[in-house]
Amino acid sequence: MPKRTVLITGGAGFIGSHLCQKLLEKGYSVICIDNFITGNLENIKPFLKDKNFRLENRNVSCYIDIPGKIEYVLHGASLASPNDYLNFPIQTLKVGSLGTHNALGLAKKKKAVFMLFSTSEVYGDPSIHPQKETYWGNVNPVGVRGCYDESKRFAEAITMSYHRVHKMDTKIARIFNTYGPKMRQNDGRVVPNLIVQALKNKPLTVYGKGQQTRSFCYIEDMVDGLLRLMLCRENNPVNLGNPSEFTIMQLVKLVLNLSGSKSKVLFKKLPQDDPKRRRPDIGKAKKILSWNPKVPLTEGLRRTISWFKERN
Ligand code: UDP
Repeated sequence: MPKRTVLITGGAGFIGSHLCQKLLEKGYSVICIDNFITGNLENIKPFLKDKNFRLENRNVSCYIDIPGKIEYVLHGASLASPNDYLNFPIQTLKVGSLGTHNALGLAKKKKAVFMLFSTSEVYGDPSIHPQKETYWGNVNPVGVRGCYDESKRFAEAITMSYHRVHKMDTKIARIFNTYGPKMRQNDGRVVPNLIVQALKNKPLTVYGKGQQTRSFCYIEDMVDGLLRLMLCRENNPVNLGNPSEFTIMQLVKLVLNLSGSKSKVLFKKLPQDDPKRRRPDIGKAKKILSWNPKVPLTEGLRRTISWFKERN
């Protein structure tokens, strides 16, 4: 049987590159699009010699024309770290809007299944806890996070419209905080920040009092969930994340214990519109994908710390 081809935008990014690896292992042919604004060539270097892997260095916010058959288009390209979307708000809006439009257009032309990498940020600073897919969210459209949140909300809306109007088979993954190897040293998100600081015995930066919560999913579990979603029949959004919830101070203690670091804590100003609590309700994913994240935070942190250790 000929290999099935998956095109993935943002394939050199953190989640994208792990997904490329898993897809290659499973025998798919992979076309990776990335413009390296936040993607990293190192992440995909090992695949460049694989005849089933092809890199297209281009910007998905501009029209994309790719020859040949494509069975799946996975739209992962985005600036996903608050640091990045605060620095590049217009690129963030463009990739969520124009980029999603282009990726949908490509999928339509190829009669491919389309999957959007959406985010828990569509829920904003949630007033419902834990967050279920039926919750519409609490987003400040004109705040500093609005460029990311609203572009992803637009991306979901246009994806559902292509599904309804063009009868396309589309999927929407609402991805909650995910961490693991291949995150950038200077990514800015809390897990790599704390780990890199701990390994350098520098102060661990905690924003606000550190009482805000997040629920952290290890990358291996996330990739498994995304693959299951890609292959299932559901067209409405599905939450993917690990429902074990921690305060940032609890995370700090875990990182200090697991790394054996002597770092102190440095409290900094809480960023504007920083969500106070976040935890996915994954009842839907459990039911329709038979998916349940397996890697506990301590184990995932252990693996991530040892990956960063090798690079420090
Ligand atoms: N945070 C922190 N110290 C850091 C980076 C982030 O205390 O060095 C906090 C941030 O304010 C937020 C949480 O950790 O409450 C998660 O932030 P992250 O940037 O990882 O992503 P978010 O979940 O906000 O999109």
